[in-house]
Amino acid sequence: KTAILVRNVKKIFSTAKGRVLALDRINLEIKPGELFIILGPSGCGKSTLLNIIAGLEEPTEGEIFFGDKVVFSDKKHLSLEPFERDVAMVFQSYALYPHMTVYQNMAFPLKNLKYKKKKIREQVIKIAQMLRIETLLERKPAELSGGQRQRVAIGRALVRTPQVLLMDEPLSNLDAQLRAEMRVELKVLIKDLGITTIYVTHDQTEAMTLGDRIALLKEGVLQQTGSPDELFYCPKNTFVAGFIGTPSMNFLSAEIIKSIKKPNITIGIRPQDIEIRPPNKGIINAFVKLVEKIGDKYLVHVDYRKQKIIIETSNFSKEKEVSLFWPKEKMHFFDKN
Ligand code: ADP
Repeated sequence: KTAILVRNVKKIFSTAKGRVLALDRINLEIKPGELFIILGPSGCGKSTLLNIIAGLEEPTEGEIFFGDKVVFSDKKHLSLEPFERDVAMVFQSYALYPHMTVYQNMAFPLKNLKYKKKKIREQVIKIAQMLRIETLLERKPAELSGGQRQRVAIGRALVRTPQVLLMDEPLSNLDAQLRAEMRVELKVLIKDLGITTIYVTHDQTEAMTLGDRIALLKEGVLQQTGSPDELFYCPKNTFVAGFIGTPSMNFLSAEIIKSIKKPNITIGIRPQDIEIRPPNKGIINAFVKLVEKIGDKYLVHVDYRKQKIIIETSNFSKEKEVSLFWPKEKMHFFDKN
């Protein structure tokens, strides 16, 4: 079963400076109840894709289905309005009504739908309890912290239990600690409600911890779709490999490693998969350039024939000359492009 199907979606923006290909034949299949992440660097087309799914923007070509229902088709000249798609959206900026209380803000969408007073009250309180804001219902937005305001915005999106929840960088205005807390709570909430959710972020850590599956975009082109583990352990290309995981994967030219006799191959090794040994006891000898200590871990930066390699290790004593070792199965191979 499919909740949302995006088929061959292309988006071209015409601007004064010419045409911008924002999305190039995107195909996605999102399952019911799935927490699906659209990930990629700034400008890669994430918001455009989300807005197209919401119905706020029309694709240049392609089709979109919600279940079996067509909500956009270029061939059929059909495009449903956002309200006809039964989606709720949460953006980075909270956009609460400042003159209304938290209760009134959350009740607003239900009032518009002509719900009975009693039903509104029940639903607002239920969602407020889930978001742990039930004690704040009489306050105005100005009397809330950033985290509380964002909870209210999420609450307002969820009160009418939409079919699909769309979120565009909803946590990026919060400080790092609050963001990490909210991330966990949001995941629990979304899973409890069982609502199909598409979540846009540029932050790979957020994507990896939140997502059931991730679609990684680069310059409007889908690079890989898969579970966090699939993207981490089986990246399809050097872009995916370098984008997922911190610190980034090391890339080495295959020629510099004697035992590997394949030309035109790039070898990738994650910083966590390299072991530091005494000189001549590993695969390659290298010189230590810099050591960073982060909590109980060290990031050791070494130079090997002008290539930079980073190793993450839990113990390091100040050697200048080292040898690096890694198990064969930890190497990733990529075609040189
Ligand atoms: P992201 O959300 O990944 O940061 P966007 O979807 O906002 O990326 O933008 C994708 C590309 O489309 C960018 O090159 C951006 O400049 C361009 N773009 C987005 N919206 C418009 C618009 N309304 N008019 C022209 N170009 C746009």
